[in-house]
Amino acid sequence: MSSARRYIEVALPLPVRKTFTYEVPPDLEEALSPGKRVLVPLGRRLLTGFVLGPAPTLPTHTAILPIREVLEEEVSLSPKLLELLLWTSAYYMQPVGEVIKISLPAGTQTRSKETLLLTEKGIDALGILGPESMEKRILDEMAKKGEEGISSASLIRKFSSPIRSILGKMRKKGWVGNKEDLERPTVREKTINWVRLRPFQEVVHLTGRQKEVVTFLQTAGEVPVAELKVRFKNASAVLAKLKTHGLVEIFPREVFRQPSWEGLEDWIDGPPFLLTEDQNAALREIIAALDSRKYQPFLLHGVTGSGKTEVYLRAIDEALSRGRQALLLVPEISLTGQLVAYFQGRTSYPLAVLHSGLSAGERYDEWRKVKKGLARLVIGARSAIFAPLESLGIIIVDEEHDPSYKQDDKVRYHARDLALVRGKMEDAVVVLGSATPSLESYHNAREGKFRLLSLPSRIDGRPLPEIQVLDMRLEPGEGRERPLFSRPLREALEETIARGEQAFLFLNRRGFSTFVLCRDCGFTYRCPNCNVSLVYHLPDRTFRCHYCDYTLYAADRCPQCASSALLLYGSGTQRLEEEIKKMLPRVPVTRMDRDTTTRKGSHQKILGQLRRGEVNLLVGTQMITKGHDLPRVTLVGVPAADLSLNLPDFRAGERTFQLLTQVAGRAGRGDLPGKVFIQSFNPGHYSIQMARGQDYTAFFEQEVPFRRQMSYPPFVRLVNLRFEDNSEKRITRFAQALEERVQRKFKEDPRLGAQLEALGPAVAPLGKLKGRHRYQMLFKGKEWKPLHEFVERLLVEMEAEFPRGGVKLIVDVDPVHML
Ligand code: ADP
Ligand code: ZN
Ligand code: ZN
Repeated sequence: MSSARRYIEVALPLPVRKTFTYEVPPDLEEALSPGKRVLVPLGRRLLTGFVLGPAPTLPTHTAILPIREVLEEEVSLSPKLLELLLWTSAYYMQPVGEVIKISLPAGTQTRSKETLLLTEKGIDALGILGPESMEKRILDEMAKKGEEGISSASLIRKFSSPIRSILGKMRKKGWVGNKEDLERPTVREKTINWVRLRPFQEVVHLTGRQKEVVTFLQTAGEVPVAELKVRFKNASAVLAKLKTHGLVEIFPREVFRQPSWEGLEDWIDGPPFLLTEDQNAALREIIAALDSRKYQPFLLHGVTGSGKTEVYLRAIDEALSRGRQALLLVPEISLTGQLVAYFQGRTSYPLAVLHSGLSAGERYDEWRKVKKGLARLVIGARSAIFAPLESLGIIIVDEEHDPSYKQDDKVRYHARDLALVRGKMEDAVVVLGSATPSLESYHNAREGKFRLLSLPSRIDGRPLPEIQVLDMRLEPGEGRERPLFSRPLREALEETIARGEQAFLFLNRRGFSTFVLCRDCGFTYRCPNCNVSLVYHLPDRTFRCHYCDYTLYAADRCPQCASSALLLYGSGTQRLEEEIKKMLPRVPVTRMDRDTTTRKGSHQKILGQLRRGEVNLLVGTQMITKGHDLPRVTLVGVPAADLSLNLPDFRAGERTFQLLTQVAGRAGRGDLPGKVFIQSFNPGHYSIQMARGQDYTAFFEQEVPFRRQMSYPPFVRLVNLRFEDNSEKRITRFAQALEERVQRKFKEDPRLGAQLEALGPAVAPLGKLKGRHRYQMLFKGKEWKPLHEFVERLLVEMEAEFPRGGVKLIVDVDPVHML
């Protein structure tokens, strides 16, 4: 065959670690470029995929099929974005098709059909075409489908001979129309009707009202029909008449849905402040980096309430005024509202918001706004790192230490780390900000990889809150369980409320109680799928598994011995709320956790209530520790500080320090000083002590030697290989084969021992989840490249040894949650 044949590499949305090669038919060559969507055959199916580029090598054992169609549509990837997605796929060892899929708004990824409709001309043609002509057969197929139409994919599938060029000709003749259709009708462009005058053709007699409308349209030009209805009585009837006279035309125009933000109005701030000296110094460095137009990473370390947000806003402003775009990542959806309000109050740059709290339609619109270049600033949660911005000047990662930047299902990646990668690819400035930076980031700053910017004190010299640690071992117990509140905390709560101020109570566990014990026979409720205890939930009186959502309705008696002596142990936020209501019956309390914020806008609603002073007490999980700036909060209580300390995870100490410091930082942010009470059974632990002193560097100095000694990040890189199966036999066989293979590799190549370390395989801390047994093997390496190459080879070999079905393999690169 001629050497002029071209082959391309295509990513398909399948959970496989490979890409696919296709041939390019000459007539499609022109329309093709990397990032375009194409329709391709795979087995007996037709799938949509993305063009990655020319095929590097050709497969030798399988026939190479031609692509069927290039899909002309908005959902394409720019070369820059494609580069980032490919990097993500390679580094995190995740299937490229799946990485691409999560970078697009939900709904668009299923967008695989172009629906063809028979036009009136087509119906006429049906009458004159000969019965055996290909065109007639195609039109017949379409006629069968009527208004519903038929997808080009299924038409192409139906006819074995190539029909693409015939279809093209038929389209030119006007026999075939097409509507771009989404499989999910929820995600569709929204239009409203507008009206305008048509060029006058002949003079007709008009009534008075009709004349009024025509005169109005002559000066107003194009107007939404809805507006006419407001201005003129009977506008619909008048318009209908004018339309039959041929005087006006009504046409649809696309509108973008506006996400609604409850309680937003009261948040818009007044005029900008004069920056403090520290803020100014930080901003000056960021501006210099922006002007250099080179990649420059910063770590902005500022204590809580030091005005980091203000620095972000100014830095973004500077980037935008230089004609570049900005991306601001936040760890929690509830924080976007506050930031959107700041921006809308202070600048007129168009912005878009991307996160999972929006409806599918809103998200699609926001995404398209970005894609079309209509938004200059994007504010979003972790997946916004893939926002299709084309001239990024700055990326800001707020609360960069937050574990929610790590995605832990489907495709595993870390948005903060990708921010640095993307910044480097696009010569952008990257600012990571936190009061409690991750050990990795602070280490990088110390090593000179990031420039350190610090804001060491609170705005206006406001003091950091005064923190007391209360030793719960000394509290007298009532009955079997200790009381939830120690006396000092109880008294402080009462006083705070009496003064008309507000308080936060932080407990990192939702639900009512953590487990139920039968006093007579020792029975406890456990999840049959996950082997963890079920959490009791009010108000529906259910026992729920927090991992798989297995639910049981509570009975009054023990299911094992029918005793009624069932005791509820351990507290969650629901119980905390109940206790507070008993203690302070007339005080309005609200709760913020995953159970109370499932509805859209619920975060905003709760924060609005606090801002307006309708509620004095907020009870919640880690959601309340993040970023909120509520000046009337003067007391923060932490009834059980040890919860996160006892997790089997090398980051437990770091996480505890971060949570306590962050939640303490919610107190005393306004003119009133703040107080914090931390209750603990382990009050001497350095995480708790350093949090009490709110001394980040002291914590860092204490934690770092432990990480170095134990070989944990930031001194090594990790890859966790997890495998799951519902058959215990199969999984132990797999574990054994894995271990043998790893050992053999180490023996064959003695250099590996110096570069890498392998721990396990061992049963994962959550040994059974959703009915599947879980094991893991942890790999450590000083350098990521040899580590990743090793694991990648291992994966390929294991997949070959244990082909499809059976054991499910999950690779987690730079793992954050290791349960
Ligand atoms: P952080 O993000 O560091 O915790 P914020 O940015 O929320 O702190 O700032 C804390 C408070 O100080 C906010 O209410 C903010 O509006 C205010 N603030 C920030 N910068 C200034 C300034 N230069 N002058 C006066 N008030 C400021
Ligand atoms: Zn019992
Ligand atoms: Zn479960």
